[in-house]
Amino acid sequence: MVAMNDERSPRSGIAPEEALRRVRIVLCRPSHPGNIGSAARAMKNMGLAELWLVEPKRFPEPEAEWLASGALDVVRSARVCARLTDALGECVAAYAISARPREWSLEVLSARDAAGEVLRDAASGPVAVVFGTENAGLTNEELLACQRLVHIPANPAYSSLNLAQAVLVLSYELRLAAALGEVRAPAELPTATAADLEGLFAHLEQASLESGFLDPKHPGRLHERWRRLFARARLEREEVNILRGLLKALAQQRARSQ
Ligand code: SAH
Repeated sequence: MVAMNDERSPRSGIAPEEALRRVRIVLCRPSHPGNIGSAARAMKNMGLAELWLVEPKRFPEPEAEWLASGALDVVRSARVCARLTDALGECVAAYAISARPREWSLEVLSARDAAGEVLRDAASGPVAVVFGTENAGLTNEELLACQRLVHIPANPAYSSLNLAQAVLVLSYELRLAAALGEVRAPAELPTATAADLEGLFAHLEQASLESGFLDPKHPGRLHERWRRLFARARLEREEVNILRGLLKALAQQRARSQ
């Protein structure tokens, strides 16, 4: 039997239960309040507590509370926001959970491999696990706001799970990984947050337009390539500052020479 050892191990830095509480389940545009309630129940069963809802169609709703059963606290403390980037703000990593792993996109992890990674990241700060809407999943823009892509390897002939059941599978894998000690000490230097990365992307966009590097009429996939590059690099906050400092100095030099 796998039991949760709630003590801090010298290697881990934080207790497994604490790592689970740092995981933020984010539901993008959920349509059915019942799924919100069922997701909350699944989360609490597995020791997760933080639920974020991006533009829910109907919330709050009694149906969400009926299906939450003993996890009313999770539903009632759910944070509602207008955009995914609002939910990701101070997260040190964001994992997109997708029924359709897209080849051109990010590295694809199985739910099991992702769970260990999520907990390791959680040692350094909050981590978002992001689910898509029931009928259409995540948009490209939502995917590109995340750094990793996760797929539940289900029956290829019918691989799309119900939203709340997908939340249960991920939450269960996280609990198992926590029980198996997949937690580690925080990174030595602060990790860049989602908000830091969005600031860098906006700065890169501005610099490439102002310098003439990017033709706004033919932007190609530059925007996506940068996101993939920096998702792989897993930047520290200081590294973001160095890159932005360089872009700023180049812009100042351009302004002086004009
Ligand atoms: N028809 C949609 C599926 C939506 S299911 C599509 O093709 O994308 C709602 C959400 O549950 C998905 O956005 C995803 O976050 C999650 N989900 C369902 N099945 C999954 C699977 N096999 N792997 C990973 N996530 C899955």
